[in-house]
Amino acid sequence: MQAELNQAGAQSRDVDGIESRLGQTIWDVLIIGAGPGGSAAATYLARAGKKVLALEKEYFPRFHVGESLLPYNVQLFDELDLTDKLEAAGFVKKYGAQFFLTDGVVSQQFEFGKGRFTEYPYSFQVDRARFDHLLMEHARESGATILEGYTVQKRDETADDYLSVSVKGPDNQTQQVNARFIIDASGRANTTGNQDGLKRMHPRLRKIAVFGRMRGDVRDDGQAGGDTVILRQNKRWFWLIPVGQDEISVGCVMEQKDWKALGKDADAEHCLKQWVQEDELLDKKLGQAEWVGSFRTTTDFSYHNESLCGKRLARIGDAAGFLDPVFSAGVYLAMWTGKLAAETMTQALDQNHDGAAGLRKYHHRVYRAMVNYWAMVEQFYTTPFMEIFMQPREKWDLPAAVNALLAGRIEAPWYIRWRLKLFFLLVRLQGRYPIMQSLNFPARSKREVSAGGPKAAPVGDSV
Ligand SMILES: Cc1cc2nc3c(=O)[nH]c(=O)nc-3n(C[C@H](O)[C@H](O)[C@H](O)COP(=O)(O)OP(=O)(O)OC[C@H]3O[C@@H](n4cnc5c(N)ncnc54)[C@H](O)[C@@H]3O)c2cc1C
Repeated sequence: MQAELNQAGAQSRDVDGIESRLGQTIWDVLIIGAGPGGSAAATYLARAGKKVLALEKEYFPRFHVGESLLPYNVQLFDELDLTDKLEAAGFVKKYGAQFFLTDGVVSQQFEFGKGRFTEYPYSFQVDRARFDHLLMEHARESGATILEGYTVQKRDETADDYLSVSVKGPDNQTQQVNARFIIDASGRANTTGNQDGLKRMHPRLRKIAVFGRMRGDVRDDGQAGGDTVILRQNKRWFWLIPVGQDEISVGCVMEQKDWKALGKDADAEHCLKQWVQEDELLDKKLGQAEWVGSFRTTTDFSYHNESLCGKRLARIGDAAGFLDPVFSAGVYLAMWTGKLAAETMTQALDQNHDGAAGLRKYHHRVYRAMVNYWAMVEQFYTTPFMEIFMQPREKWDLPAAVNALLAGRIEAPWYIRWRLKLFFLLVRLQGRYPIMQSLNFPARSKREVSAGGPKAAPVGDSV
């Protein structure tokens, strides 16, 4: 029913009869997918006066995991005139993130506003169905053409000065659509990366996420009530994200092999409920809340494409790659890479060339910016990292540099970069000659133990 209504909505918006003329024009830019990356790119391009078409296979609003945004997202919202709309929509403000080890014995709070090198003090926690829809409508209002119910199937043989893709519409008919440039923003569907055989799974981050929603007024008082809470257990970690006044997204990330080892007990609803109940901290925080809605799992989310560009093509957001959700960077990275790709193509269109040099630059710039962030994510699963990360010392402003990176300042100036280098050096040292206290904590649940964990273990090196 919802799909029918949405479809009717999509068709009623087709005031210019675009759908019947889809293949008869050469668009400046075709965007595959209208999630946050695709919608941001569409808005930048439309505002630059380009003829931009985004094709989205779903009808919005649609569910999507990934509700916690980073402060540097606000920089992009400001540029796109979205901040006021997000404020008006009443999304929860996020001023920080809290990290706990099992049972909350060791904890660490990052307040973005207190970070000396962090220029944006807060962000939002969002219900993605509403947020993604708002971004899509904003792109439409900015002049982009966005059609829902259209699936881009593959990139076809191309002419010299434009590309063609096969598109299946709501009527199941396939047609060709042509554009001078393509942005692949298809998320983990990874349309062009898969077609070109570029996808590389992360060899050590073979995880699964199990998640659901709870309802209840269980937020901390004051600003901290909007914080993301991350709880690191021995062999898995949990997120609590307040996505409304009384709604919390609750999820768990663990090794795929540990999930498989549960055999017939590997049921999302059963496991999540039990794990929350078993952990003292989670039970304390969520004990008064009730589970609502469905339980889901998703897997294989850590990968990258070997190349983020091709002939007249850029891959952005999850269609470029994605590495573990622990630091909540996915939406920010999708919008930021969307902006860079849009700028690269705007320049090429203005100068009437194929943008090859600019697209290669885009690839290198994104890879360079991601180095520290990827290191941070990979190390999160190691003991020495947790020992340094959870017991920071106010020395040389190292915590401020980590704060800035966690806020999304990934293209950091030198005074942050050298501090991050030192931070990672300390992590390496900690592995050989411990400088900080070792952290030990017990495996809490029978399941955690039966899934292969020892009874008492250091913070698990699951990578
Ligand atoms: C368990 C988990 C938790 C996460 N938590 C967070 C978090 O807290 N914070 C955060 O920032 N990120 C989080 N993420 C990551 C975040 O969800 C993504 O990084 C983000 O959604 C990427 O945006 P995108 O626009 O690249 O892709 P998407 O948001 O996935 O959008 C892609 C769109 O393309 C459409 N599409 C796909 N294929 C086609 C096609 N062939 N033709 C037309 N349309 C197509 C899809 O329908 C979709 O709407 C999490 C991810 C996981 C797996």
